[in-house]
Amino acid sequence: MSASEAVTDALRDLHARFVGVRDGRRADYIPELARSDPDDFGLALVSMDGHSYSAGAADTPFTMQSVSKPFVYALALASLGLDEVGRWVGAEPSGEAFNAISLEPGTGRPANAMVNAGAIVTTALVPDSRQVPAFRRILVCLSRFAGRKLDVDEDVYASEAATGDRNRALAYLARSAGTLPVDPVAAVDNYFRQCAVRVTAVDLAVMAATLAYGGVNPVTGESVVSPEVAAQVLAVMATCGMYDSSGDWLLRVGLPAKSGVSGGLIAAGPARFGLAAYSPLLDASGTSVRGHAALGALSERLGLHLMKNP
Ligand code: GLN
Repeated sequence: MSASEAVTDALRDLHARFVGVRDGRRADYIPELARSDPDDFGLALVSMDGHSYSAGAADTPFTMQSVSKPFVYALALASLGLDEVGRWVGAEPSGEAFNAISLEPGTGRPANAMVNAGAIVTTALVPDSRQVPAFRRILVCLSRFAGRKLDVDEDVYASEAATGDRNRALAYLARSAGTLPVDPVAAVDNYFRQCAVRVTAVDLAVMAATLAYGGVNPVTGESVVSPEVAAQVLAVMATCGMYDSSGDWLLRVGLPAKSGVSGGLIAAGPARFGLAAYSPLLDASGTSVRGHAALGALSERLGLHLMKNP
């Protein structure tokens, strides 16, 4: 069997194996997300030659939510460099839930750019000007990672803006600690918009593959960020991308990853592939149940664990 047949077979098998799993529940604290179809389940893998493999609902649109965080972190790092970004947001696993009300003792920085507090600060670091507003930059950057023009799901944006007081609280907390450089209302608004950017599992696999390929989109050939920035982002995804289950994920699955509450999940194999899953039923930490199961099983089946000597 060729390598590409092995990938196609594996995605199909894992889709069939986990499509019947009914555990978990949709996020309903953002009311619009509770309207997603609980049966949707898509898997996609993009290789470094730009080939995409998929199974199930891999072309179904959904919003990025927290899967946007590593890509906006990449934009902030590309704009300001690691030292400047590191003055505002840390790079340590928090061991806490994604929406924890907490800042690092002493520095007042959010622990990392993958938790909500850190993502709001990261979004606020994106350069903003009248000619090129920050959100425009973010949308253009996310689109380059995906290799096509993305847009915002206005209903999901409005739904989160109407219910996002906990995130507003985080923005004000960071502002009071001196670690949010802009107006909290504007920062949170851009953050809600980036969370509502619409993608498919195939888009997310291309985006993850771009990080895996040193910042070059393997489908379009465009260099989106430098190899240094791509490596920095993957490092933070490896240690912090799965919040309070990041250690267990790295132990068992062995890949840098990022989850989101709409049910999207990405993982990257540096110099090898980008992977994505979509299924809206979530576990207690806000990770797609079927996505977690499928990516874990795929890692085992294809021997993808980064710490393993092939
Ligand atoms: N927009 C969501 C929030 O801020 C993203 C959280 C997530 O996907 N874990 O609550």
